[in-house]
Amino acid sequence: MIAITFLVTFFLSYIWHMLGVTIGYHRLLAHRSFKCPKAVEYFWVTGGYLAWQSSPLWWATIHRAHHRYTDRARDPHSPLHGIKHAYLGWFFRPTYPEYINPEIQAKDLVKDPLYRFLEQGGNWHKGHLLSMFIGMTFRLLLLLMFGWEIALGSLLAGLTVQQVPFLLNVVCHIRRLGYKNFATSDESVNVWWVAVLTCGEGWHNNHHAFPGSARSGFNRFEFDPSWLLIRFMKLIGLVDWMHEESIHSIFKGDGHQLEVRS
Ligand SMILES: [Zn+2]
Ligand SMILES: [Zn+2]
Repeated sequence: MIAITFLVTFFLSYIWHMLGVTIGYHRLLAHRSFKCPKAVEYFWVTGGYLAWQSSPLWWATIHRAHHRYTDRARDPHSPLHGIKHAYLGWFFRPTYPEYINPEIQAKDLVKDPLYRFLEQGGNWHKGHLLSMFIGMTFRLLLLLMFGWEIALGSLLAGLTVQQVPFLLNVVCHIRRLGYKNFATSDESVNVWWVAVLTCGEGWHNNHHAFPGSARSGFNRFEFDPSWLLIRFMKLIGLVDWMHEESIHSIFKGDGHQLEVRS
């Protein structure tokens, strides 16, 4: 019984935290690929924050820079600059480099007082520590209210989800580890097992070809649960608009070639 409570908590927490990163941090805040009420935004962003993704404003700013400078000198975490740096090294910088400025590159998010507070004035170390503190406090509350099985399930799910975007940044930018549907000018590739771990984010070459799309899986076998859930939220009125219809993909038969008309 104890094991079941732990496993169910781990599984449900993993899904919430991972979708918090993919739907909340990534497709909503960083790319604005859909619009929704603030309550829906906060629900998903909280899921990502409690998996120690650090400040949402910081995350989105860095991610936008990743798309602007993909696999070039200014890319914050390209594996071309070393695997260790791409995995975690970049995360420990004290602050933004001079060419990345949230006031300019994430004006839409700077307006939100909660996101500004969590960003701690651009001091990365303070932002990460605050995120760590709030994440641990949340598990402590779970422990006091519901016991150790639920607290431990939540803690381990959060720690696991914390690592997965770091992993994606490395694996999905090493050409030999996946395949490309689109001849993008960067190293991005689609990696099926990363897509499984990330509820659809592993279709990363598709994403770099169409960063503004709420949908990342284009082929029939490219299962993208994050997009299916965004589509479902639109169906039931929790999403007002999503950017997906502008992509008209033609499946060309061999499973690896897509011709795209905009
Ligand atoms: Zn990328
Ligand atoms: Zn992106």
